[in-house]
Amino acid sequence: MESGIISVDRWSQGSQAYFITHLHADHTRGLTPTWKWGPLFCSRITAKLFPSKFPGFKLSLLRILNLGHWYSLPLFSPSSGQPTTVQAMAIDAHHCPGAVMYLFRGEFGCMLFTGDFRWETTSHRAKIARDMLLKALKDEKLDTLYLDNTYCNPSYCFPSRDVAARQVINIITTHPNHDIVIGIDSLGKEDLLHYVSQELKIKIWVWPERLQTMHLLGFQDNFTTKTSLTRVRAIPRYSFSIETLEGLNMMRPTIGIMPSGLPWAKKIFKGKGNVIYPSPSCGVASTKIKRSNGDSLDVRIYNQYIYTVPYSDHSCFAEIKEFVELLQPTSIKGIVSSSASYVEPLYYFGDFCSTNQASRMSYKKLWYEERVERLEAIQIKSPVGSTNSNQVRRKRRRRSGLLVSQVNRVSILRRVRRGIKIMDTEFPS
Ligand SMILES: [Zn+2]
Repeated sequence: MESGIISVDRWSQGSQAYFITHLHADHTRGLTPTWKWGPLFCSRITAKLFPSKFPGFKLSLLRILNLGHWYSLPLFSPSSGQPTTVQAMAIDAHHCPGAVMYLFRGEFGCMLFTGDFRWETTSHRAKIARDMLLKALKDEKLDTLYLDNTYCNPSYCFPSRDVAARQVINIITTHPNHDIVIGIDSLGKEDLLHYVSQELKIKIWVWPERLQTMHLLGFQDNFTTKTSLTRVRAIPRYSFSIETLEGLNMMRPTIGIMPSGLPWAKKIFKGKGNVIYPSPSCGVASTKIKRSNGDSLDVRIYNQYIYTVPYSDHSCFAEIKEFVELLQPTSIKGIVSSSASYVEPLYYFGDFCSTNQASRMSYKKLWYEERVERLEAIQIKSPVGSTNSNQVRRKRRRRSGLLVSQVNRVSILRRVRRGIKIMDTEFPS
């Protein structure tokens, strides 16, 4: 196989330039402090956070891209050895701090890699990104859209983050005598926490490394590591569990709030940490809680101590649809290649693409066949007599095992490789 030209969120050797969309762990797998395979392009905020995420990383490898500017990269075609130019532009992805999409132009055509992104139509930032994107494309056709398809299923319908943030406030204010813990990752949801801090006029506890990140991002006054100063704590998602909440409630009345686009399943992981985890196929009970002004608030309750709020840094299905309809690419590839509810994006959005009808139909056929296989894989329990059938059964059992392992926890759901390597032979069809 020939060497590639550029890689996005993929860190193996063999490309001439590397791009990182953001610093979430599922996009940096393979990136280490000793990584050295080429210049690494990123946003200004990502560059700022880089030393704390990768202590000892050779910072001279970083190349900062300002949003909305075309940058020309003089590279060479590995197949012909001839010089070639790749143009790249970073555009705000409105996901976590520093997250960007990348628009590329080169001999491979015009490509957009969204990374993880939120496309809230009501958001001012999304509007700026939209204008930037359309201005950059002008009348040019987008050949390939590499799409964040995390919630690419019509069942994923959730409100804007503003609406979800108000739900968080309502839950907290209807529990005036409770301690509150909010599950977050090591990056992301800063705006939510800042909003809670501002609205309730309290500081929020975060763990020391998180406080360092908050300070790097310019949040100086709203966060603390002193538990005595506040009843609201943001804790790492991996330690947010029923056991944690039960333990806390033995000392003080405490509720947990999990902001996530995924509905949460009533299922308990028996392994380390007894983590609760979501399954997109399962809902949770909705209930109404009374607010002090007499109104009732519709919220989802996982168990007696845990509330879930649909605060998502990924686009919901309607937003993904709006995005694809706007861009009308020739083809689409999902960057989350495996999930419990995975469906090839072209299945839903083929009508917005100029990919020919036969190709679209084959996607629909493939998807249908895969669903049938999945159903069969799940239904393998009845005994099958013949040797051939046994082989089929064993095969399906392996699939079934794979499927079972793919279901549930969000980190598992999204553990798959998300990056791409663009080859110089990868011309648009
Ligand atoms: Zn992410």
